[in-house]
Amino acid sequence: MTRKERANNVIRELRKAIPEPQTELEYQDPYELIVAVVLSAQCTDERVNKVTPDLFRAFPSVEDLARVEPENVYPLIKSISYPNNKSKHLVGLARMVLNDFDGEIPSTIPELVKLPGVGRKTAQVVASVAFDEDALPVDTHIFRVSNRIGLAVDANTPLKVERQLKKYIATDDWSEGHHLLILHGRYTCLARSPRCEKCTITAYCDYYKSLQKLPAPMSGLKPKKGKFYCATRKHYFDEPTHKMDRSGVKQVSCPKCGSMNVFDSKKGTTTRVVRDFRV
Ligand code: SF4
Repeated sequence: MTRKERANNVIRELRKAIPEPQTELEYQDPYELIVAVVLSAQCTDERVNKVTPDLFRAFPSVEDLARVEPENVYPLIKSISYPNNKSKHLVGLARMVLNDFDGEIPSTIPELVKLPGVGRKTAQVVASVAFDEDALPVDTHIFRVSNRIGLAVDANTPLKVERQLKKYIATDDWSEGHHLLILHGRYTCLARSPRCEKCTITAYCDYYKSLQKLPAPMSGLKPKKGKFYCATRKHYFDEPTHKMDRSGVKQVSCPKCGSMNVFDSKKGTTTRVVRDFRV
């Protein structure tokens, strides 16, 4: 299966599993959207949605927000991450929109990134959600999910992931794909323990395939003889050595023979780990 075919299959299956792929941020217009997206950096949409109703009641328009000082914004957003910086960014953003863009939130990515607090990701989200631009911003969920599935390979930065996704996902599907991958990461392919048992794209996921290749747990091991058991040399030991495997993952290894076929003697499970992409 080529990467393009894999991307098509993933999008098709996620469409079936997630019938309404859209942002979970609550907003009424481009002004409210850009404010919500700026607030959502390093913060959950759920938490942002809790503060925005009062914030938009206090500052219903870009003009209202441009007129005040960051100290007036801070109390309304203090429960979210980085409230100091975000207060400054929001007021600066509103003033620039008023002075440089006639009070209208700009619709293109190059214009949006000029605004304080608006990076490439925020600009793409706003351009795509509010103005229907083709964009595929990569957040922490998309970064993790794309690498796990294998839609992105050896992509260690969001920009590299974005470039690879844009190569293999059809342009018309970028915006929808963005929401599908985020929601899949938020509710199924969780950072700490992905819910592979509920996932509908296991057939296209490299991470899942690697998990299936791990050795089955061993029973009857004797933890009193040692913390670890080397199944190659068939002996117990307490102090393991470590080795990098072929995918660059540090694995527990046997201090005598160097084998990575090692088990936790208390749990009976393999000590081998699959390369993950949590950030
Ligand atoms: S199979 Fe598991 S790791 Fe792969 S995408 Fe689904 S939930 Fe994520």
